[in-house]
Amino acid sequence: MTVLYETNANPDGAELTSTKAHRPVLAAMLRGAANKCMNCGQGKVFDGFLKNAHACSQCGQEFHHHRADDAPPYFTITIVGHIIIPALLAVEVLWHPAIWIHMSLWLPLTILLALSLMRPIKGALIGLQWALYMHGFDPDAEDDLPVVPAPAPAIVERLS
Ligand SMILES: [Zn+2]
Repeated sequence: MTVLYETNANPDGAELTSTKAHRPVLAAMLRGAANKCMNCGQGKVFDGFLKNAHACSQCGQEFHHHRADDAPPYFTITIVGHIIIPALLAVEVLWHPAIWIHMSLWLPLTILLALSLMRPIKGALIGLQWALYMHGFDPDAEDDLPVVPAPAPAIVERLS
């Protein structure tokens, strides 16, 4: 399905239009967060814990050119900090526990929360980039990134 949608008028006054298919942002982010290919919903986005697959095994959508970079840890730190710090302060104000209780409670919680959020956040950000045709997800864009070839079968065999 192709949807025409208008963008802002350019300085010459002519309307700019795009013939790219509309990609729903929220659905793409949710699929990415659930480690599902945002294009088909069947394949996986990740090969490892945080290592994304080169491409979807079901539909061939390439993921190697995403540029999530350091945004996943940034958002993870922000979210975890906004959960752990108020909880820590509330516990301290209410019960004044010993420092070893704080350490044995908040350190594991922080690590678990960070590890459990990092991958869904990275998947959601890859989904956002796909939905907005960012970086290599726009088939009509000039190549702004070098092409990353798929690993040679001999290398994959050696690594596994
Ligand atoms: Zn797919």
